Amino acid sequence: MASHARLGPSGCDRWSTCTASVGLLDKLHVDGAIGDRDASDWSAEGTVAHEVREMCLVFGLDARHFVGATISADGFTYVVDDTMADHLQTGIDWVREHTGAPHVEIQVDLSPWLPGQFGTCDTGWLASLLDSTALSSGMVLYISDLKYGAGVPVDAKGNKQLRLYALGMWHFLGRPPIEKIVINIDQPRAGGMKFWEITLDELLAFGEEMKAIYAKIESGDVEFKPSEKACKWCEVRKAPGGCPPRDRWLLEMAADAYPELPNTVIPGYERQNLVGERRWLVVKHAPEIRARLAELHEESLRAALDGKPDPGSKAVEGDLGDRRIKDVKKGELLLTAALGDKAYKPRELIGIGEIEKLVKPGRKNAGHPETWEALQAILDRPPGKPKLVPEDHSKPALVQWEDDFDDLDTAET
Ligand code: SF4
Repeated sequence: MASHARLGPSGCDRWSTCTASVGLLDKLHVDGAIGDRDASDWSAEGTVAHEVREMCLVFGLDARHFVGATISADGFTYVVDDTMADHLQTGIDWVREHTGAPHVEIQVDLSPWLPGQFGTCDTGWLASLLDSTALSSGMVLYISDLKYGAGVPVDAKGNKQLRLYALGMWHFLGRPPIEKIVINIDQPRAGGMKFWEITLDELLAFGEEMKAIYAKIESGDVEFKPSEKACKWCEVRKAPGGCPPRDRWLLEMAADAYPELPNTVIPGYERQNLVGERRWLVVKHAPEIRARLAELHEESLRAALDGKPDPGSKAVEGDLGDRRIKDVKKGELLLTAALGDKAYKPRELIGIGEIEKLVKPGRKNAGHPETWEALQAILDRPPGKPKLVPEDHSKPALVQWEDDFDDLDTAET
């Protein structure tokens, strides 16, 4: 098998919707417009976390056994600490509750659905299902995937990457009859343990969808279909010239190019164009629109500095930066002589993260157990501010009625 699958599970959100991205990426790679992705500190940390989890599951160890160990990955060196061990142990324990012999880091063949394609499944196993009423018995296929990233929470529900792993693992295990598939994402730093269950029929129907998409890609019947999920990690964005279909999608959205969406008119706001679904579409994609505008600004500035300004623009020297003391020691002497203690900012307590690191007792760090315990009584966490999320988000909807809005009606146009 090749070392990199063209239609690999991790890219499924992209290639299964934006089918034209596959050929374009091939071309950009051949042209040298994009190279191999550079390793980064955080991706190396994720690789180390996977290695620790793998060794724990294969050799029956706990994550704490690796605290203090130095592990290298992708050119970076990482020392496993208590925090990583704590983060990993929950998922390891959950796997052990269900099996003593998981298949770990197995390369699964996806050829029956996506010829020539494969993926590496973190963890998968079969277990017998015996419910408490003994009304149901059969086999369950478990698929568990560690996501060590903290930035972007990944849902288990509807996850295409894990469904591909499930297909591959089911095939690897000899296509046994199974009652259901339990899909688990273990994302300790962004949402914890997440689960989704599907039947074998549903999984196989997904496999058929993948077959049809593969056939379209192979026959050249493809389209660019930008979306948040598809474009998130797509390398086309970073290639010279970026991705014009995505630019159009983002910027036309901000300019309200979706007249087919209903606008909910709120009395008093009849003249406003962006309300209702149209407004939510823009709000939902605001981070991507803002990020793209920032990139365009950088590109335009770079072009001007290179002597090729966008027509109508030029680069000039910006406002002066903040004043600073070049010789800090000399400045300190002068200021303390003149002002005494007033020369310094007020002292500030360290943050909770730092307190946890220094005070909380751990396996390698004695910490300050009494202080840590006493602190628990005075630690507080204010409730989160209301935020907008897609309506299928797992949290229940929050409504805070304001008297001023009691009398407002809404109507569809
Ligand atoms: S950036 Fe988005 S629209 Fe462009 S090729 Fe990639 S997935 Fe498709």
